[in-house]
Amino acid sequence: MTQSFNPLEMPVADLRGVGSERLAQLARLGLNTVNDLLLHRPRRYEDRRHFKAIVELRLNDVATTRGKVVAAGLKRWSGGSKSVFEMILDDGTARLHCRWWNLPFMQNYFQVGDDVLVFGKLNSGKPRTIDHPETEVVEPGEKISIHLNRIVPIYPSTEGLPQRWLRSLISRTLEEFESRIQEPKIILAVPRERADGVPAGRARHSVRASVPGSKDGAPRTDAPCLVGLPGRAHAIRLLHSPEEMADTESARRRLAFDELVDLQIAIQTRRRRLEASARGLPCSGDNRMIRKFLAQLGFQLTEAQTKVLREIRADMGGAHPMRRLLQGDVGSGKTVVAASTALMALESGFDVALMAPTEILAEQHYRNFQKWFRPLGIPVELSTGSVKTTSSSTPGALRSAILFIGTHALIEKSFGPDKLGLVIIDEQHKFGVAQREKLLRKGVYPHLLVMTATPIPRTLGLTVYGDLDLSVIDQLPAGRAKIKTFVRSEEKLPKVWEFVRGKLSEGRQAFVVYPRVEESDEKSGLKAVTKEFENLQKVFAPYRVGLLHGRLRSEAKEAVMAEFHANKLQVLLATSVVEVGIDVPNATVMLIENADRFGLAQLHQLRGRIGRGAAESVCILIASAKSVEANERLRVLEETSDGFRIAEEDLKLRGPGELIGQQQSGLPPFRFADFRSDRELVERARELVRERLK
Ligand code: ADP
Ligand code: MG
Repeated sequence: MTQSFNPLEMPVADLRGVGSERLAQLARLGLNTVNDLLLHRPRRYEDRRHFKAIVELRLNDVATTRGKVVAAGLKRWSGGSKSVFEMILDDGTARLHCRWWNLPFMQNYFQVGDDVLVFGKLNSGKPRTIDHPETEVVEPGEKISIHLNRIVPIYPSTEGLPQRWLRSLISRTLEEFESRIQEPKIILAVPRERADGVPAGRARHSVRASVPGSKDGAPRTDAPCLVGLPGRAHAIRLLHSPEEMADTESARRRLAFDELVDLQIAIQTRRRRLEASARGLPCSGDNRMIRKFLAQLGFQLTEAQTKVLREIRADMGGAHPMRRLLQGDVGSGKTVVAASTALMALESGFDVALMAPTEILAEQHYRNFQKWFRPLGIPVELSTGSVKTTSSSTPGALRSAILFIGTHALIEKSFGPDKLGLVIIDEQHKFGVAQREKLLRKGVYPHLLVMTATPIPRTLGLTVYGDLDLSVIDQLPAGRAKIKTFVRSEEKLPKVWEFVRGKLSEGRQAFVVYPRVEESDEKSGLKAVTKEFENLQKVFAPYRVGLLHGRLRSEAKEAVMAEFHANKLQVLLATSVVEVGIDVPNATVMLIENADRFGLAQLHQLRGRIGRGAAESVCILIASAKSVEANERLRVLEETSDGFRIAEEDLKLRGPGELIGQQQSGLPPFRFADFRSDRELVERARELVRERLK
């Protein structure tokens, strides 16, 4: 079989002028192929079009100039620990002093007689001086146009690799390969017939590939999917050689679009492959147990819960394995939905695995599900890092299906259910895609329900969870009192404590959350739970204070949680380990210190630990007085309890990492795409791939 060789995959080693030393340096930057070079994104640009003679330079001018080195020398003092390297340039009109403080090695880069380009800001007029300018030595006979007299890209580089050399390499490579940069196949593809019979879009001939190398204006393609975006080849040219600053953004947008399209292809292909190759296990159940279960709950399901369960039941009895994301704000009652879903599989004779991100949460689920399922005669087993229940191996068809609850321990080899029909993952955003897949592989295409309380802004949702169907519980159970939220500065703490004591005296319980476990470094002013523990025991005496954090041994954690549940502890002092899932309805006060250290979505999660009963609940966010901005940000939580709005705000302020757990989300690192600004591109990429993926 001959496969057509993609010239852009050519290794950089095969390029002219790349020796072994340079090769190693390029590798350090992740630049291994021509394509890598073409997509090496400048970290910034310098407008060097305003080239001036030295005599024209005025104080505070930012400009490019050029001259010959007429003198250079290093001065040291303070026993050699301080230094200044100074060099004087002359261009025939005047002299310019360039200085580098405490960078003595700069002297190695210049020699008298060198022809030097300088870019920087004139910080003294008499004599004309630029401190720490950008410089480049022009080799005799060298063509300098790519480094000067234009908007110049400044690339991420590495030690020993001169900016100018890298820039020349990229420029040469672009000249050589530009004509071979192609539009992605999917953009040239003919849209599939749409289900409604209307031919989607226009045919392939409407796309003119960009004209390589053409200088006159942006070559356009009139493909509807590319409206407002340059062709790919042109975008890559603009990336390295913009004519106006604005070009850099249109280049970025186009290349971002291509990244998002690639991602959508991966997501949508995976989903289609699943549907083509796997049949759904018959798991919709017969209602026998679910009816009993719901009858003994003590409350009615909300309309939203019922609607979601209908969607789930259709999936569980459908032709393909369920792949569903259940999104519902904290306290919306996802656990009951999970339990009902589990029962569908269990009463159909299939095992179920429920995975939670922390031992505390797994144990809480274990307690709840035992209480619910024991009367139904369903065995529930717990498996965490510290507790292991070996999969009970009653052989034969007679053994009843089992619900396994656990942490990551469920992913380990030792866990091997006989006939896994359903995987439920709680607090999905705490897990990676890889972990989810591993658990699924314990069975033969089991159904999957993942749950998250972190509302994912739509852009992110389409991307991270693009291969999942979405169900939303958009309603809280009736009778929930609103949570009041206040932002307070640190000096108000004594008053806040007094307020909390008042609530304790009414028989309520409180969470107090700190960002860290250990003694913190004093500079950051972060409070640490272990230190504050002693203090708060005094503050709240005679009420009892418990301490909970991730580094405690699991028996200790479990004991503390059990005591808090039983109201033997009135105050729970904790790190953000209480963020996920903890359900203690009598706890109505949440005090969060150093609140500005947390993301808004995370604070919303923490706040979701209270307000679980009918009693009024209060959340107090203590912000370090210094940071006015951070305090302003916290006000969002005072104003709204709409998880989606909060998540949008968080996305704007802090990027997607926090919301989705970037590293483990399975998302590739994007060079160009940015979820904060590229919402529209995400939608377009998804549509395009939906229309055209064969
Ligand atoms: P989350 O969606 O945050 O996981 P939970 O499942 O922990 O929320 O539910 C929060 C609390 O609400 C639990 O105490 C649960 O028993 C209760 N609950 C769930 N559904 C309802 C309902 N329909 N009516 C009243 N209470 C409910
Ligand atoms: Mg939950």
